[in-house]
Amino acid sequence: MTPLNPTNITDLSARFSGVVLRPDQSGYDEVRRVHNGMIDRRPALIAGCVGNADIVDAVNFARTHGLELAVRGGGHNVAGRAVCEGGLMLDLSLMKGIHVDPVCRTARAQGGVTWREFNRETQAHSLATTGGVISTTGIAGLTLGGGLGWLMAKYGLAMDNLLSAEVVTASGDILRASKEENADLFWGLQGGGGNFGAVSWLEYRLHPVGTVTSGLLAHPFDCARDVLKFFREVTSGLPDDLTIFGGLLHAPDGAQIAVIILCHCGPLAEAEAALQPIKKFGTPILDSVGPTSYEETNRMLDAGFPRGALNYWKSNFMVELSDQAIDTLISQFAACPSPMSGLLVEHIHGATTRVGVSETAFPHRQEGYNFLVVSEWLDPADNAQNIAWARESYDAMRPSFSAGRYVNYLGDDDGEDAVAAAYGPNYQRLRALKSKYDPTNLFHLNQNIRPI
Ligand SMILES: Cc1cc2nc3c(=O)[nH]c(=O)nc-3n(C[C@H](O)[C@H](O)[C@H](O)COP(=O)(O)OP(=O)(O)OC[C@H]3O[C@@H](n4cnc5c(N)ncnc54)[C@H](O)[C@@H]3O)c2cc1C
Repeated sequence: MTPLNPTNITDLSARFSGVVLRPDQSGYDEVRRVHNGMIDRRPALIAGCVGNADIVDAVNFARTHGLELAVRGGGHNVAGRAVCEGGLMLDLSLMKGIHVDPVCRTARAQGGVTWREFNRETQAHSLATTGGVISTTGIAGLTLGGGLGWLMAKYGLAMDNLLSAEVVTASGDILRASKEENADLFWGLQGGGGNFGAVSWLEYRLHPVGTVTSGLLAHPFDCARDVLKFFREVTSGLPDDLTIFGGLLHAPDGAQIAVIILCHCGPLAEAEAALQPIKKFGTPILDSVGPTSYEETNRMLDAGFPRGALNYWKSNFMVELSDQAIDTLISQFAACPSPMSGLLVEHIHGATTRVGVSETAFPHRQEGYNFLVVSEWLDPADNAQNIAWARESYDAMRPSFSAGRYVNYLGDDDGEDAVAAAYGPNYQRLRALKSKYDPTNLFHLNQNIRPI
């Protein structure tokens, strides 16, 4: 290991096409900040890369000097895994290249792209792929961990649409991974998170997606039990075109509401017929469901997740939504301390469930729900109260949980067992793969898979 000194940093900066930032330089604070305002870490160095050569130099630099290495894609990970205390933050946020091939219906995008940027280019051709539920999340972190989103029932997870990736591994090699090339690595990238290297390019399969029918139906909190039971009934027989979430949220005026949020990506007439019973149910105080673009759909919840807000999330999969679970959701939400927080139940069915458990690293292929506590607030003085509420809500829901957890929602305090639980039957294979591509665990600031 070579000790770090100012000359080494100057040498790195001189070679770099991107920007190398030290703590005393302007721009440093803006880049080190991630989505979650709870995260306040100060890397010794930020390597703002613009291409593979920069990434290779940054990875080699971190390895040679024994520095902690964090990789930032969109910076949305709630546990703040994109940034390290001391060490080197490999920042991909300058890497915004996107190329759409409308004939082959594929898109290649760089590791710093967000879904908003990606959708803008693909939607120019009336094409899209499954992205996140909101548009400000990074494509890389979301895809590498799985990728639940509005198009998943029809087209699978974001990760199921990944065709190939370009990766800079811990040894500083640039590898292409696909079903044909380095197929073992590609398998690991489909769900294994940032464990196998820094991904500079991702290539996706696209689908014809123009106008969709989407929006939110809000009911008074008094009706929450009926709404959630109705949501359960509806989810028992959905067409692939329809992805639907239920939950308990706050209206902009702070009132507690029960919601059904959905996106139907099929023909408008079919959407109208499929959604009629949902729109007719009860007496909604708001019904924003109607035809709109997919791009707009991906932005419809953005305002609820401002950058810099304080966040603490917990989640677990559930096979069913029992009466007991519904009662617990309601009693926990009644005690919610922040008007920004919510309890969400994300329904999973269709194409996502028609992939084998070990076909990709992401094993959760059963029809069911992902339960998510989104605890979000603004004042640091309220940290303890809001974290406690999230933990209590999660604990109260435990009797309803199935075995699996979603890696992209794991927090720092969930521990190594949670990562093993998240990968289930694929965990040992992932550990062997980690030993092959990153035997010293250089890429460990992630949902970490330990080498054997
Ligand atoms: C407001 C909000 C909404 C969300 N909505 C959804 C949703 O709808 N569906 C869903 O599935 N998830 C959702 N998530 C969770 C999201 O998938 C994860 O937080 C994901 O890690 C974010 O990816 P990112 O690139 O923005 O994150 P980052 O914080 O940049 O990175 C997260 C992890 O991925 C690794 N990583 C990132 N980019 C690369 C890369 N190019 N190469 C290698 N490793 C990389 C990082 O090292 C880190 O370990 C949401 C999160 C937030 C905060």
